[in-house]
Parts: sequence; structure tokens; C-alpha cells
Amino acid sequence: MSENTTRDTVILGSGCSGLTAAIYTARANLKPLVLEGHEPGGQLSITTLVENFPGWPEGIQGPELIENMKKQAVRFGTELRMAHLNSIDLTRRPFALNLGKETIHTRTLIIASGASARWLNLPSEQALIGHGVSSCATCDGFFFSGKEIAVIGGGDSAMEEALFLTRFATKVTIINRSERFRASKIMLDRAMAHKQIEFLPNTIVDEVLGVEDKDVKGLRLKNKTTGVESVLSVSAMFLGIGHEPNAKAFTGMMDLDEDGYILTRNNVFTTLNGEIIPGVFACGDIQDRRYRQAITAAGSGCMAALEVEKYLEEHGR
Ligand code: NDP
Repeated sequence: MSENTTRDTVILGSGCSGLTAAIYTARANLKPLVLEGHEPGGQLSITTLVENFPGWPEGIQGPELIENMKKQAVRFGTELRMAHLNSIDLTRRPFALNLGKETIHTRTLIIASGASARWLNLPSEQALIGHGVSSCATCDGFFFSGKEIAVIGGGDSAMEEALFLTRFATKVTIINRSERFRASKIMLDRAMAHKQIEFLPNTIVDEVLGVEDKDVKGLRLKNKTTGVESVLSVSAMFLGIGHEPNAKAFTGMMDLDEDGYILTRNNVFTTLNGEIIPGVFACGDIQDRRYRQAITAAGSGCMAALEVEKYLEEHGR
């Protein structure tokens, strides 16, 4: 490894936070390398219309927004590469990123690998993502005004989504695979007290109907105890069954919370046993389980990039 081949910064993830970090570090002449990972473009690339990203009064399609960010990052000198991180060594500097066929060395690292929504993984569900199947009520609820909607899950996310969706839907049915609901009592009570919300516990979704029409028409359900099948007529299915942070590669190398999200200090500084890991920053959904919005992810991507610049400057670059 020579000084010349060592990069100033590598960004893991090409969602909203990673690309914002790329735009900033590229404009600072750091020639960032973005490794796109297993979900190029992140969660925006699987949404449809985004109406809450400032600057787009008529809204913009999620994939188009991401494509614009990519173009903007590339214009200033970002290199994008389709690659998966096999392993990483954060104990030696520069950091060594093992990508299988090659190893890349970098002085700083921005982790923006996001959190992936959990899906039921039914073929019919996957076929209808963006056509009535969604994992984001704040993003897509508005499109189902005056319609009936199903929310899957029994935790706080499902309750929150269901309560939010009552602003638009005439009826929201919460479908939980268990008899027991994981949600906190206050959230569960609030949902139960709502006249537009109904509950179907102990029920699993076998199929999302409407694949031929490219539009959700209903759900084929099965009661887990009786085995009785039924069809629920709805126009949308929202998943509220949790998210998986894509931080497994960093287990043991930095502080994670009990669900595997990276714990950061001052938004973007990573730590190990409470001590800041110099030169390693995290931004976007991988360190944010609370807001999970495109604009907040972009904001923390900007912060991580500015900290990278500051770190390199302090280390004589
Ligand atoms: P949880 O892990 O709490 O709940 C997940 C729910 O999804 C459970 O009901 C689980 O069922 C169900 N589930 C998981 N996988 C599947 C599957 N494959 N098929 C069907 N159902 C499935 O996740 P949440 O996202 O709800 O919450 C995560 C954390 O965030 C919690 O600590 C929560 O309190 C917090 N949170 C707080 C909020 C607030 O305070 N306003 C809002 C949102 C989240 P089962 O029980 O059978 O496993």
C-alpha cells in the first residue's frame, strides 16, 4: 500500500446520507469512493412519490431523487462502485476494506449503509412494492386517502403507522401474526380506542392480491389457530414489522445499541467503549432509529462529510 493509493475517504452506502456525504467530500476535493452495497440507492430507490423533500413543490419520484444525487456527486469527482464489504480492519491506519477481489485503504470512513425495512418476503408482496405495498406510512399514506388500508405488525411501529394512516384511510386493519401485541400499552390503548382501527390478531398474510393489475386489491389471510382462510379487501398494505440496521460487519468494532444500530456521539462520531474512534463516522438510518427521513439522513450525511474534512485537515492533509 502506498500513500498514493490510499484514499482520503470511502463511503459505505449510496442512499440519501451516503450521497450527501459524497457531494460534500467531493466538493472538498477528497475524491470519495462510494461503495453501493446490496441496496444501491437505499430506501428512496424503492419508494414512489416523495413529497416532503424540500425543494420539490410537486414532489419527485424516489428513484429520480437518488439518481439526481448520484449525478451531483459524480459531477464533483465521486467514484461509485458496486461492491460489498467482506470485512474491515479498524485497528490499523489507514483502514483496510476487504472487498473480496481487492483491498482498499482509506484514511477515513463514512458508514451510511442504512437500515432495511423488514418484509414478509412473499413474491406477491415484493411484486407490489411501490404499487400499494409500502414500508413507510409518512411517505405513502397520503396516496390512499378515502381507501381501506392494512398495517402488518404488532409493535410500536405498527401502532404508530396505523394511527398516522387514519388521517387518510377510512379504515385501518392491524394484522398481527401473534395473539400478543409487542407495542407499549399507551400506543396499543391509543390504537384500540380509535374508531377507524380494527385488529386481526393471530393472523398471517398468505398473499397480496392484485399482482396482475399492478395495484393492491386485497390480502389473502389465514387464522393461525383455526387455519380458516379469508380475503380482506384493501387498497394498500403497510409493513410495520421493524427494520434491520446494516451494521453487522461492525459488531465488536464499535458501540451498537441492543438492536444493532450504531451509537453515535454528536450525531456522527462512532465510539468504542464510549471512546470516539477517530476518522470513522456514521450517518443516516444506521444511526437513526427515530426520524428515518430522507432529509434527516441527508443532514447527517453532510455532518459526517464536514467532520471528515476537519479530521483530515487536523491530520495534515
Ligand atoms: P418490534 O420488534 O417491537 O415489533 C415488530 C413486530 O412485527 C412484532 O409484532 C412482530 O411479531 C412483527 N413481526 C416481525 N417479523 C414479522 C414477520 N416476518 N411477519 C409478521 N410479523 C412480524 O419493532 P418496531 O419497529 O415496532 O419497534 C422497534 C423499537 O422501536 C421498539 O423498541 C419500539 O418501542 C420503538 N418504537 C417506538 C415508537 C414510539 O415510541 N412512538 C414508534 C416506533 C418504534 P412477533 O411479536 O410475533 O415477533
